Amino acid sequence: MRLVAPLFALVLLAADAAAQDKGSVNPVALPPINPADPKTPAKEIFGRKNTPLPVQARSIGFYTAGCIAGAVALPINGKTWQVMRLSRNRNWGHPKLIAFLERFAPKAKAAGWNGLLVGDMAQARGGPMRTGHMSHQVGLDADIWLTPMPHRELTREEREDMSATMIVRDDRLDVDPKVWTPAHVAVIRTAAQDPDVERIFVNAAIKKALCREATGDRSWLQKVRPWWGHDYHFHVRVGCPKDSPECKAQPETHAGEGCGKELDYWFSDAVLHPKPPAVPPKPKPPMTLANLPPACRQIVLAP
Ligand SMILES: [Zn+2]
Repeated sequence: MRLVAPLFALVLLAADAAAQDKGSVNPVALPPINPADPKTPAKEIFGRKNTPLPVQARSIGFYTAGCIAGAVALPINGKTWQVMRLSRNRNWGHPKLIAFLERFAPKAKAAGWNGLLVGDMAQARGGPMRTGHMSHQVGLDADIWLTPMPHRELTREEREDMSATMIVRDDRLDVDPKVWTPAHVAVIRTAAQDPDVERIFVNAAIKKALCREATGDRSWLQKVRPWWGHDYHFHVRVGCPKDSPECKAQPETHAGEGCGKELDYWFSDAVLHPKPPAVPPKPKPPMTLANLPPACRQIVLAP
């Protein structure tokens, strides 16, 4: 584990940087591929399906190896939210995720956060993505920017070009007091208190700040767990829906708030300053359809 963890960190940091990539209002069409070739990476096949399979919604598989049928789009504008990076077409999810976001956005506003900027959710049929994430595959994950929505509708260009705010301080040991506000605590707490939310991933520096500043009932801190990256957005994960027997639940979190000593690992030198390995690891072959639940092949290959 000690050898593996820093490598893992590098991979995840790269993935997280990609998640902040800008988009384009005129994205270049992807070159054609052969979905029948068993070696074709699953992300290339899922990345070319722009519409959901129009059936009863069901999430299949695990957050990092699965897909979704019957996904629904979050409308790109709500009173209290706006979807970012529209060119990516990743504002899809299980109706349970959509319902959560539509319920959470006005509550966050009432708690002092001026509306959500919604980042990546899932692709139209879920599955692995060509850029940016290991999870987000079953339509139950959503990234929320740690930048409040401005008081106006963003243009298409702004939704592609605008950058989220970096919340973590340069030394990575705490949040940046110039940008961190009580409203940041409020928006994360509001999401965590929703009964459908099972887990929230944030940078360890953000978790540390929440541990320090949360007042009153602190039981929601248990759902908020540190992860690599997540320094300009937080990641909300809802649990497996009742209508999805093929959805694989994640293990429960450890008991307790996860504050104090439990965060030490994340501030260790190995995590904060990972050293490149002496021998570069062999790149892992990309997931193919054979690595996903069999139903995902039918779902992604259906017209
Ligand atoms: Zn995410």
